[in-house]
Amino acid sequence: MGQCADMKTIHLTNNGDPVISCSDCKACCCRLEVMLMGDDESVPAELTIQDQWGGWVMHRLDDGWCAALDRHTMRCTIYQQRPIICRDYQAGESDCLDQRAKFAITATG
Ligand code: SF4
Ligand code: SF4
Repeated sequence: MGQCADMKTIHLTNNGDPVISCSDCKACCCRLEVMLMGDDESVPAELTIQDQWGGWVMHRLDDGWCAALDRHTMRCTIYQQRPIICRDYQAGESDCLDQRAKFAITATG
């Protein structure tokens, strides 16, 4: 994920649809649950929370977005330490496109 609203990289979709860029996205994917893996120990503990099954996840605030997201810039504040799931999430891939579409529907009611 990550999603990263901090990645200014511009990506093309596989079928040549319009360019997908995190820079013009409302960080839609930073509303998803982000599970922490064993190698994620550099993520600040105060931004994490234990889920109902005892696993650790990124804490999401009442507005639905990850606690690590800067609400003004919509960028990740722990970009260099972001979780593995966030590192693996690729802009322009199907999950990203799905999240952008779902967020657009939600935002327009
Ligand atoms: S850690 Fe950063 S990239 Fe990952 S969901 Fe939170 S704000 Fe987004
Ligand atoms: S949903 Fe896609 S374009 Fe938007 S921030 Fe996440 S990876 Fe970037």
